[in-house]
Amino acid sequence: MSWSFETEPDFQTQLDWIEAFTREEIEPLDLIFRGPGDPWDPNSPAFQAMAPLRKIVKEKRLWACHLGPELGGEGYGQVKLGLMNEILGRSRFGPSVFGCQAPDSGNAEILAHFGTPEQKEKYLTPLLEGRIASCYSMTEPQAGSDPAEFTCRAHREGDEWVINGEKWFASHARFSEFLLVMVVTDPEVPIHRGASIILVERDTPGMEILRNSAVGPYVEQGDGVHGYIRFTDCRVPADHLLGEEGQGFLVAQTRLGGGRVHHAMRTVGVLKKALDMGCERVLSRTTKGELLADKQMTQDKIADSYTQILQYRLHVLYTAWLIDKHKEYNREVRKEIAAIKAATPRVLQDVIYRMMQLHGSIGVSDETSLMTMWANIPELGMVDGPTEVHKVTVTRTVLRDHAAAPGLFPTYHTPSQRERALEKYGHYLPPKNA
Ligand SMILES: Cc1cc2nc3c(=O)[nH]c(=O)nc-3n(C[C@H](O)[C@H](O)[C@H](O)COP(=O)(O)OP(=O)(O)OC[C@H]3O[C@@H](n4cnc5c(N)ncnc54)[C@H](O)[C@@H]3O)c2cc1C
Repeated sequence: MSWSFETEPDFQTQLDWIEAFTREEIEPLDLIFRGPGDPWDPNSPAFQAMAPLRKIVKEKRLWACHLGPELGGEGYGQVKLGLMNEILGRSRFGPSVFGCQAPDSGNAEILAHFGTPEQKEKYLTPLLEGRIASCYSMTEPQAGSDPAEFTCRAHREGDEWVINGEKWFASHARFSEFLLVMVVTDPEVPIHRGASIILVERDTPGMEILRNSAVGPYVEQGDGVHGYIRFTDCRVPADHLLGEEGQGFLVAQTRLGGGRVHHAMRTVGVLKKALDMGCERVLSRTTKGELLADKQMTQDKIADSYTQILQYRLHVLYTAWLIDKHKEYNREVRKEIAAIKAATPRVLQDVIYRMMQLHGSIGVSDETSLMTMWANIPELGMVDGPTEVHKVTVTRTVLRDHAAAPGLFPTYHTPSQRERALEKYGHYLPPKNA
């Protein structure tokens, strides 16, 4: 029997160091560098500011821990990564300082599995060392949630692929050295057998960024980092196809499963930070002669938030544990990943809103980070697929373990159940008119 909720003391010591380092050295970066490309853009001052911190993390052997030692990481399992990420989630810079930022972490995994030796040398090595940025481009302007609607095509001509079509919300495209682009290579078969992933290098002729959208109302429209891209007879060498032709979704699975769990882990960090803020506030503020903390409606908000965070956290860590146990993204694992992905915006909405409410005006001002946390919620309901689609996955998987009633009445219909119970235990009952 093993069912443990404990952290090994040695690893706890590392987590304590990560927590102090995050609070003291990394979180201040959030206050100064707030551009849409921060902290990913290698040409930005924010990127320079991170460099000394990254050096310390590497010396501590905590860099890119999600990767195996052959790729310069520590090969941590998902539970360890979960405990680490829930600290890093406190800061927008946390993952980048520790070399596990999306989308680069997932893109590196794809290159490591499917890249040629030359591609690995040219792109994987600098990506793993944190010197360049990368982009994963799948969504199209007319279709995101349903890949069957994708139309961006690539066809083979001699020893080249020729790409035509458009992509949408390709994060970081404008400063990435390469893009991993999902394209339709065989429109005659269902998309899950007809799509492939192709590596497109920066500045390849025929690839044009039409504009860059931002999340939220940045002052100058077009300053964002999510590229709207057009490919017009864009030619790339044949060996830029990653994995087999038609296996695009299998290749993509390498990155999406892990990525979704890491988002959820970091959300735990955001939630805990918000609760910490709420707790300090209610212990500091007096109204009508007593602390906010003594008011029952405040206690209701703190208690519900604490409980929801704990439930969510345990679900995330359970999912991480399942991945470590199964070592693959099987049905059971995919169900839990989809469930926590769907739960993420809801728990954030509930907890952050309560904490803002408890803070009053300062909670909605630009003088705490609560409003930034609030503004980020909708995108977490969208990235890597909308909540609805993940709920569909959860429900389909749950319903697989159930069947329709064989007759007119349910199998749990009390009258027939009672009849069977009477057959079994009825003789213990005293006679009716005794
Ligand atoms: C910050 C951010 C970064 C992103 N980065 C990238 C990136 O780097 N690369 C990339 O390829 N994409 C990226 N995306 C795009 C993201 O993957 C898509 O937004 C997502 O897949 C949804 O697609 P869509 O926006 O086209 O919405 P749609 O597919 O149009 O869906 C809109 C809404 O329709 C409803 N809906 C859709 N399907 C169903 C269904 N089956 N059942 C019920 N309701 C449904 C939901 O309410 C959904 O929110 C990013 C998005 C954001 C917000």
